[in-house]
Amino acid sequence: MNIIFIGSPGAGKGTQAKRISGKYKIPHISTGDILRENIINDTELGRVAKSYMHNGLLVPDSNILIMIKERLKGKDCNNGFILDGFPRTNPQADGLELILKSENIHINQVVVLQTNDDIIVERLSSRRSCTHCGKIYNLLFNPPNNSDLCDVCHSKLIQRRDDLPETIQKRLAVYKKQTEPLVQYYQDKNLTKFVDGSGTVSQITNSIFQILDQYD
Ligand code: AMP
Repeated sequence: MNIIFIGSPGAGKGTQAKRISGKYKIPHISTGDILRENIINDTELGRVAKSYMHNGLLVPDSNILIMIKERLKGKDCNNGFILDGFPRTNPQADGLELILKSENIHINQVVVLQTNDDIIVERLSSRRSCTHCGKIYNLLFNPPNNSDLCDVCHSKLIQRRDDLPETIQKRLAVYKKQTEPLVQYYQDKNLTKFVDGSGTVSQITNSIFQILDQYD
């Protein structure tokens, strides 16, 4: 099963993609996570990506396409994958199509998570993540026991630099301009299903499972 997730930053793509990955046993591929790992490891890609990410801008398509092409070669992708945060632009969607065509793979479903901006800003500004194990919390609906420390490994929790209020606004504007047109791109291919992203995490998961069960 090959799935693409589209939704604005903070729509809950990462949280839902992890649940789907667990149920259908396919890898969750988050380009944001791969880039953050590259920054931590101070790789060449990480050094290129850093300033774009910290400013709420998109990393250049060419870097992203090289990175995703490599990731999709992984053996764990043999039974499918969930793409979270990719593609984010038209050239990325075209590039993905070429990569998949060469492997004779096709996308089964594009899940579009719909939310409104007020919810997004509230969610993103309350998001905290663990500096050590990467576990994500939300101070509003999934708070840690101690607001500064991770429940699992007791390391310090931080707010992602791109979750600061001014950067959130920029990321939303970038989403509307560069990524939202992809909804039409995939609608034209009859691949989209829309999910209301404003309910509880479990309600949203159930709606997504109802759509994806047919491919299992
Ligand atoms: P995310 O974790 O998906 O919200 O991504 C965090 C940041 O990583 C984004 O704001 C971009 O700067 C960068 N990024 C992630 N995925 C992509 C992509 N497909 N294309 C360009 N930049 C990306």
